[in-house]
Amino acid sequence: MDGLMQPRPLTLAHLLERAERLYAHKEVVTAGGERLTYAEVAAGTRRLATALDELRVPAGARVATFASNHRRHLELYLAVPVTKRVLHPINIRLPADHLEYIAEHAEDDVVFVDRALLPRIWPSADRLPRVRHWVVLPDDSGEPIPADPRVRHYDDLVSAAAPGTGSFEDTFTLADEHLASGLCYTSGTTGRPKGVLYSHRSTVLHALGTLAAGLIGLCESDVVLPIVPMFHANAWGLPYGAMLAGASLVLPGPSADPDHLLGLMAAERVTVAGAVPTVWTSLAPRLRDHDLSATRFLLAGGSAVPPALSETYRAAIGVPLTHSWGMTEVSPVGAIGGTRTQHRDAPVAEQVAVRAAQGQPLPLVNLRIVDVETGRELPRDGDAVGELQVAGPWVAGGYYRVDADSSFTADGWLRTGDLATLDADGYLRLVDRMKDLIKSGGEWISSVELEGAITAHPDVVEAAVIARPDPRWMERPVAYVVLREGSETTAEDVLTHLTPLVAKWWLPDEVVFVPALPKTGTGKISKSALRGSARIA
Ligand code: ADP
Repeated sequence: MDGLMQPRPLTLAHLLERAERLYAHKEVVTAGGERLTYAEVAAGTRRLATALDELRVPAGARVATFASNHRRHLELYLAVPVTKRVLHPINIRLPADHLEYIAEHAEDDVVFVDRALLPRIWPSADRLPRVRHWVVLPDDSGEPIPADPRVRHYDDLVSAAAPGTGSFEDTFTLADEHLASGLCYTSGTTGRPKGVLYSHRSTVLHALGTLAAGLIGLCESDVVLPIVPMFHANAWGLPYGAMLAGASLVLPGPSADPDHLLGLMAAERVTVAGAVPTVWTSLAPRLRDHDLSATRFLLAGGSAVPPALSETYRAAIGVPLTHSWGMTEVSPVGAIGGTRTQHRDAPVAEQVAVRAAQGQPLPLVNLRIVDVETGRELPRDGDAVGELQVAGPWVAGGYYRVDADSSFTADGWLRTGDLATLDADGYLRLVDRMKDLIKSGGEWISSVELEGAITAHPDVVEAAVIARPDPRWMERPVAYVVLREGSETTAEDVLTHLTPLVAKWWLPDEVVFVPALPKTGTGKISKSALRGSARIA
């Protein structure tokens, strides 16, 4: 027998209209001094919706953004999906051939681009003939704006457009909750980038997931700062989650300068912020120079958080970094770290160990680990290591315009390419990415664990461990290490520090000091670039 409850569609239109009605006075602050209320952002969104109609952007068309985190980008996050078009944020750090491939594959109809970023994308305009309009988002960069009939100005378009007054929510039917709302491409570290096509339903459920108390638990009293770029997997769902919760939003603009970000956190009394570990590493030395007393929760994801880094935060401001495990394919958040009641009285070392885990799945997310060779599910005993697979209503079931793909199992779970353990309480611990694991003499060495141990050395800022081919052992670890300025630490010192922390055969064959480590477009340490340069060296 079916239930008799109303089958209302889950759509982003509800989220916009809720923020407009319930939280009209809450603020969206953009670095540089712009303060708008949700009512004003909603009014801008309504005008932008009309402007998209006037540009004759068809329903279902892909609308690309090439922009940093600011209020106009948020208006695009809303106006595009609530009018049944598809938001396609493009990573602004991609090389020209990648971004052209992605814009062409997505068949973008319009591109909204920050004035400051024109030099990075305008040279590709003639190779993207499908893009009919290039709309420039204003800033004070002074970059020349091309005199070309395809180029429009955001503020002119929006101020000339009428603010439609009806309810977007009422225009959606139940079937429409499955309409695409957004398209994000994976970074393409292995092969061509692949498009993940989010739906209204998946995005709304994911936003609700960010409100789950005890995990991220966004709420009305929060002031949320997504440092993670809005072109990266919906900025981890933080903008949509904040609006759903009625939290204020702080958008940092293009600068990643540590004092700029920490100054913003202090001035706006930010309670929740999210960034990749390399950003948290760059902020760590300046923590005590700013008043971060309002901070309650710091999310770190995209790659493993070295436990020593998390502890640096706990010691300086009383708030550790909390792991968030995710992937573009998972909208992106799948699991959140942290302790539970059972750990409340545990010794500090045990709490640190629990916090080092990637954490527990968000409600509605299912995780399992399987034997890489046989595909058999492995026990949840905290010991057995296997490939992590994930299923849930905000997990991709396929890629955009890619036929059968080996990334999915016959029963529809996503293969993550991560090696992990699960324990009896459901905690996920990542051992390594399958392609980063080092196989030495038939045994595994976790590059992630070695990096965490090396980073615990007080003079080490960052470390990356990769495999070097070895005639006897097949592969051996080599560590690339960035030291604090002025440090005289030697390779010998690093090995001495590691000796009590890891098995003897895990000790790297070589420790190479480098001034900096290569980073990916999303700010993670790029092991593939490191492997490339290691081969040249
Ligand atoms: P890419 O890293 O290829 O650019 P994603 O941003 O989608 O693409 O990253 C997904 C991958 O990042 C995961 O499969 C995992 O290997 C890694 N990752 C994400 N979060 C964490 C975390 N908290 N700890 C360790 N690794 C993580």
